[in-house]
Amino acid sequence: MGADIDGTGAGMSGEDLAGGDAARVARRDEAVRAAVRQGLLGPGTPLVGLLDVRGVRESAAALRAAFEAAVAPGTPVLHAFAVKATPLVPVLRLLCAEGLGAEVASPGELALARAAGVPPDRTVLDSPAKTVAELREALALGIAVNADNPRELARLDALLAGGPSASPLGLRVNPQIGGGSIEALSTATATSKFGVALRDEGAREWVVRAYLDRPWLTRLHAHTGSQGIPLPLLARGVAETYALAEEINGRAGRRQIDTLDIGGGLPVDFASDVTAPTYGEYVRVLREAVPGLFGGGYGLVTEFGRSLLARHGTLVARVEYAKSAGGRRVAVTHAGVQVATRTVYAPQAWPLRVLAYDGEGRPKEGPAVVQDVAGPACFAGDLLAEGRELPLLEEGDVVAVPDTGAYYFALHYGYNSLARPGVYGFFTGAATGGAGGEGGTGEADGVRFVVVREGQSVEEIVREGGGAWGDALTGGEWGERR
Ligand SMILES: *Cc1c(COP(=O)(O)O)cnc(C)c1O
Repeated sequence: MGADIDGTGAGMSGEDLAGGDAARVARRDEAVRAAVRQGLLGPGTPLVGLLDVRGVRESAAALRAAFEAAVAPGTPVLHAFAVKATPLVPVLRLLCAEGLGAEVASPGELALARAAGVPPDRTVLDSPAKTVAELREALALGIAVNADNPRELARLDALLAGGPSASPLGLRVNPQIGGGSIEALSTATATSKFGVALRDEGAREWVVRAYLDRPWLTRLHAHTGSQGIPLPLLARGVAETYALAEEINGRAGRRQIDTLDIGGGLPVDFASDVTAPTYGEYVRVLREAVPGLFGGGYGLVTEFGRSLLARHGTLVARVEYAKSAGGRRVAVTHAGVQVATRTVYAPQAWPLRVLAYDGEGRPKEGPAVVQDVAGPACFAGDLLAEGRELPLLEEGDVVAVPDTGAYYFALHYGYNSLARPGVYGFFTGAATGGAGGEGGTGEADGVRFVVVREGQSVEEIVREGGGAWGDALTGGEWGERR
């Protein structure tokens, strides 16, 4: 290791980074430099997403190790990655190779998981709006389903009357323990749209009866929120879920519920490169708050998304122009609302760091200058950072936006018909020769890139913009009758 992050002006210098974090930051700098050197990023392709393959593997391994160290021997544990965070087939396959599964919430996400080869017994379907057709498919495939509400349970009743299914089935509850700092991501408020609201009048008794009436309901699910929920609150959500499962099993006189799905939601600190909280810390908090959870009485399912992938993605963009307006310096880059939608529309809730590099991809030095970092979209608010202190960005420089591996570069927003950027996995170090298989894009300077997702072409934009139906409104029978 011995990563040198001092004086880069790019990494958060002065921060005390532990080995794994320091090594990841060093790999990130290497990858930015190599992306420029190898021409992945250039005047014709001014925006790319880079994915640290080793980092993804390490996070997956850390998650598994944290739970393995805590559970009673033989306890089944499935870590189902929340596909919405990074809906890319090669990523899902990589996580699958690391022993993880997939949590899906739409026909598209299920199709991605299946294309990645995630087996049915490692797939969990959660969604508040499952159609009958989706439920039927899930039951036929044998994937786990968490019903969201009483009406959905009634649909399952009807489908199961037609024949049994191998699917493990559960019910999602909302423990209504309160929200975190981001309202839109707080799923356990009194009025959240998700699950059966446990503290509503009569709801708890209804849930218990629903289980007693349905011997095939063997799981209980809660996901208390994402980003902004403090650990103790996350743990309280799990504790409430555990207590309810114990109550149901007590009333049933048997261990009807055999698996608890505790959701995801571990936050990421977007202001720093330090991994905190870690999975190990979360497990410690859970052990204290819910001592019975790891005792072997229940199999466990988790559904982490952001905490597995965010750190391992970096958007890299060219500075197209640098200008000044009203005394404020503005760097106009190619990374804006189309790849950082939440940050642009809700900058207080979703701040991102911006790292400055020169035109060769070397961390940029120089005194800090207050400046705006803007995106390419045609509205004034398309800013990645406002009034940020950075070395002065100039035309041809490069900016990197770290921590964008989850909910950012894979979740494109088509404003201004800006093209989806290519996403490239990178391997650093000598031991990576040939590691990526086909699609390699070069191996100069010890960094090898592989295509994870191609950049979108303008031909694709035209096709997705109804290009095949150009005559629809003006030609033919209806068009002629103007
Ligand atoms: C979004 C979501 C997750 C993942 O949340 P993260 O904050 O990304 O870990 C897990 N489970 C459900 C049901 C979700 O909706």
